Amino acid sequence: MSGRPLRLGPGVAEAIRAHGAEAFPHECCGGLVGREGLVLATVPLPNTTEEGPRRRFLVRPSDYRVAERRAGDLEGDLLGFYHSHPDHPARPSQYDLDHAWPTFAYVIVSVMAGAPADMTVWFLKDDRSNFEEGELHGDTNSDSYSAAAVHR
Ligand SMILES: [Zn+2]
Repeated sequence: MSGRPLRLGPGVAEAIRAHGAEAFPHECCGGLVGREGLVLATVPLPNTTEEGPRRRFLVRPSDYRVAERRAGDLEGDLLGFYHSHPDHPARPSQYDLDHAWPTFAYVIVSVMAGAPADMTVWFLKDDRSNFEEGELHGDTNSDSYSAAAVHR
């Protein structure tokens, strides 16, 4: 595999999984803040929309501003967004494709029966026709990243 890499700093994968489990059976969503392909912090966004909490992935302009402001506070960049797929695989849906922006990383965590499972990262192709899977790298100082994927 030679996808575009995204590295997750200490605690980031755990934070995404925890948010996904907490929001279950609804989708959770948040921003990814960091620098140069390394995510240093997550920005959880409220999980209610006009369409109902199950369909959370739509990032509204107000969410975007919240995430951008938080990135500024942390002196980092908004690198992308994460969201969960309750009882669905960690692969982007057509809905995700229709609402994605170029350049951002999209992390998806599958939450099966309330337990966080696979986590993947995706980038929109330049022509926006589809996503390309990237390579997700966990916190190398912690074995909880791979352990969590197997045991939780
Ligand atoms: Zn999705």
